[in-house]
Order: sequence, then C-alpha cells, then structure tokens
Amino acid sequence: MKTLVLPPDQAALAYAKELIEAGEVVAFHTETVYGLGADARNDAAVRKIFALKGRPQDNPLIAHVHENYDISALVETPPYTAALRKAFLPGPLTMVYPSKGQVSPAVSCGLETLSIRVPASPTAQAFLRTVNVPVAAPSANRSKHVSPVTAQHVLDDFNGDIPLILDGGPSQGGIESTVLDCTGAVPQILRAGLVTREMIASVVGDCGVYHMRAGEKPRSPGMAYKHYAPGCRTAFFRAQNVEDAVRCYGREKSVGGTPYFLAEHAVCRTLSGYACFDLGSTPEEMAANLYAMLRAGECSATLLIGIEPCARGGVMDGVRNRLLRAFGQSEGDHET
Ligand code: AMP
Ligand code: MG
Repeated sequence: MKTLVLPPDQAALAYAKELIEAGEVVAFHTETVYGLGADARNDAAVRKIFALKGRPQDNPLIAHVHENYDISALVETPPYTAALRKAFLPGPLTMVYPSKGQVSPAVSCGLETLSIRVPASPTAQAFLRTVNVPVAAPSANRSKHVSPVTAQHVLDDFNGDIPLILDGGPSQGGIESTVLDCTGAVPQILRAGLVTREMIASVVGDCGVYHMRAGEKPRSPGMAYKHYAPGCRTAFFRAQNVEDAVRCYGREKSVGGTPYFLAEHAVCRTLSGYACFDLGSTPEEMAANLYAMLRAGECSATLLIGIEPCARGGVMDGVRNRLLRAFGQSEGDHET
C-alpha cells in the first residue's frame, strides 16, 4: 500500500473520511504527538490499530472528538468535569469518564471507563469535524518505540502499512496528553503531561497523582509498559555524575563508536567539543524537543548518553517520566 502524506486540505479530509468510514486507519497531527486513528465504534477498525502497532491487548485507547461533539452520548460527566473542560479543552488533557458503552469494547480493553480527548491542533479538529465520529487513537508509533512528532516519524514506522498521514507540521507540545481519571470525587492524574497537577487543582481545588504500587493492577495500563525506547544503545547518568558520563563517552569513542549526549542546555554548555543533543532550558522546550532528539539520536548515535535534568514539578513531571522511561530508568514505585 502507498502511504500518502498530505496537508489537511479539502481533498485530503474527504479521503480521510472515506477511509474512516471504510474501517481503515488514518494517522493525524495533534499538538502533542501524531495519532493513529480509526472509527471508535467499529470493532474491526479498532483491532487494526492494535495489530499495526503491536500494542498489548490490555492497553486502552483514547477516543478523540471535535470541540462541538456532544460527549454526554458517550460517557457520564461528573459535575466538576465541566470546569476542567472549559479551562483546558481543546488541549492536551485526556479525561477518563464512566463509559456508556457506545463505542467498541476494544477501545477501553473491556474497562468500564472511556477516555476522551479534544485536541487543539487545527489539523486534528478539521479531521474530527469532517468524520464527525469518535476516533480511537493511540500515538502513531510501533509499540514501545519513541512517539512521533512529525509526519516523517510516522512514515518511518508505518510506510506502506497505512493509507494516509494528515501532515500538520511538527507537534509543538512534544509529549503525550495528561491522562486524568475523572471517575472519583477528586480527579487523579494517571499520566503526567503539559496540563499539570497545579493547573488542574487551581480549577477544581484538588488533584491527586496516581502511583502504582508493586504487584497492583495498574489503573492506567499503558504506564506499566516499557516505552519510548530509541533504537540504539543507551546509557543514563544522574546530573551529579557528568564526569562518569564523559568517561562513558570516551570509551565509546575509543572503540570506534559514535556517542552523543542528550542533556538540558545548562549541561550541554559545559560539554562543548562533545556531540550533544541540547534539549533546551525550559520544561516546555524540553518536552517539545525530547522525542525528535531521541529519534535523531537513534539515527546518528551508536550510544545515546542521557543526563538527568535537574528541575522537578509542573511540566517537568511529564518530561522526566518520558525521559527516564526512554532510558529504561525507574521513576519510583509505580514503574514496572
Ligand atoms: P497512547 O494513546 O499511546 O498515548 O496511550 C494512551 C494512554 O492512556 C495509556 O497510558 C492508557 O493506559 C491510558 N488510557 C486510555 N484509556 C484509559 C482508560 N479508560 N482508563 C485508564 N487509562 C486509560
Ligand atoms: Mg503511545
């Protein structure tokens, strides 16, 4: 199959609608990462996503809808969620609600909840408005690989396997949406992202953060899987161990390898003369650069040497979560 990469003009959107109605998958730009979408009501189409990605059968998908879609047909909406939708949607926040069972059970892998996202990206909005159905979509990467933030990244993973990529340019947010469980009295973050705990608490007064305990069945199954791994060898050092990282770089070089550092700007400045991917200075810059640099790293480096950024809290929670997982590091007791 030829994979077309098209800007979201009228012809491309009409083709996308035709594909979705025929039970095919379509990759599309969002402001976080690219998604791989199918009609959430169509069992066979949803299963196609799992098969294409090699995604574990117990890792649920997010249903994407346009900003005027009436989600009360799909889910129960606890009263406090209205303020959250008003404050943050469209945007990089996925909300998990009690499901009304109107989409394929394959979307939520049999759970009684359904997660819904309203992306802000104009490309995603145009696509979702045109198809006017809930679109189940995970990130458009092979399972466990780094999430895609350009159409080329999607092509690198799925060229010849999917019919269409709606190209909206680079995804500026850079890390996946915040996943917020809204089934309890107080919302709880299942996956950190650009909409932070502080931002949510400022709207509804309180916000929990879920930490999986050892041996417990995860509330957000995706968080239990190894993720975001670049396809090259990796090493990881804490910020206080940069000298060890430099020795590691030297050893790789001495055996004819091509090492690269991946570090925040302040650290890269101290590493002049070394090959370095500079993640930037602010949490937002680091989020925007992380996946593109992991993907560039796997193309150019034999060994990618990550150095832990110093900042904590806010958007850094999401950045640290993805970075540590990409380098196979544990963040704490909720990782398996
Ligand atoms: P991805 O689409 O690849 O960004 O992954 C979606 C993430 O949302 C995974 O971590 C899932 O475990 C999580 N998720 C999706 N639906 C639900 C749900 N109904 N309940 C809890 N977590 C969910
Ligand atoms: Mg994913």
